Amino acid sequence: MVRKVAIYGKGGIGKSTTTQNTAAALAHFHDQKVMIHGCDPKADSTRMILGGKMQRTMMDTLREEGEEACMDLDKIMSTGFGEIRCVESGGPEPGVGCAGRGVITAITIMEQQKVYEDNLDFVFFDVLGDVVCGGFAMPVRDGKAEEIYIVASGEMMALYAANNICKGMVKYAEQSGVRLGGIICNSRNVDGERELLEEFCERIGTQMIHFVPRDNIVQKAEFNKKTVVDFESECNQAHEYEELGRKIIENENFVIPEPMTMDEMEELVVKYGVMD
Ligand code: ADP
Ligand code: MG
Repeated sequence: MVRKVAIYGKGGIGKSTTTQNTAAALAHFHDQKVMIHGCDPKADSTRMILGGKMQRTMMDTLREEGEEACMDLDKIMSTGFGEIRCVESGGPEPGVGCAGRGVITAITIMEQQKVYEDNLDFVFFDVLGDVVCGGFAMPVRDGKAEEIYIVASGEMMALYAANNICKGMVKYAEQSGVRLGGIICNSRNVDGERELLEEFCERIGTQMIHFVPRDNIVQKAEFNKKTVVDFESECNQAHEYEELGRKIIENENFVIPEPMTMDEMEELVVKYGVMD
């Protein structure tokens, strides 16, 4: 059975980087068959898997060639490093229409085509969003994704976003069955970061599934249009993603989170002296 996983978190926190590196590690080290479905209008969720190529998005294909063309998987799906299958939803032209709509259309088409069921171990949805609303809620709302990981760090805005995403999840969890599998700490090298994240996780009833260090090799690999797993598979950082991948494979800790109140969040932030 394929596991459908959604990655959420504040913009710029490292969702796409973490998703692609973890996907690459799952394919390379753990022999898993993986797909990434980018759900961000930025459409950069699959770029490093595809060697820097900006994939034409489903919304562009739809606009330029019509619905028929979207049914042609050769037109909307590319295969990259580790045989990872890649799709980008894309979005409306800037300033026109709701960005989340593209996600709904794209996921619906993929489901009609049964792409997610086709000989895969993992599908990752890389979803934009500080708040879970509109189309960006779709992966959690209708049970499109079954498990969620939130990327966060010890910075205040990242924690607030993580807490808000949990609030959004709670609304849909009962009916859709979606569960939180943990928080991925993508370190910003903030003082006391690990302790803060550990406490945050405990308070909302989940685990910190992995602490991913900040390492310049990520940017270096990116400059070479690759994930670190592809760029230098024996470096430390590649093994961190290997470890995260292993923990995701073995994970059995799935919960409906209990988000903190604003007052509790403020207390926590003061306790650790967090700054943005
Ligand atoms: P998001 O998808 O959440 O908007 P990105 O994945 O695009 O964020 O990450 C933003 C930037 O942060 C990227 O350019 C990437 O190079 C950098 N980055 C992410 N994770 C790490 C890390 N662990 N170490 C170093 N740089 C990182
Ligand atoms: Mg991104």
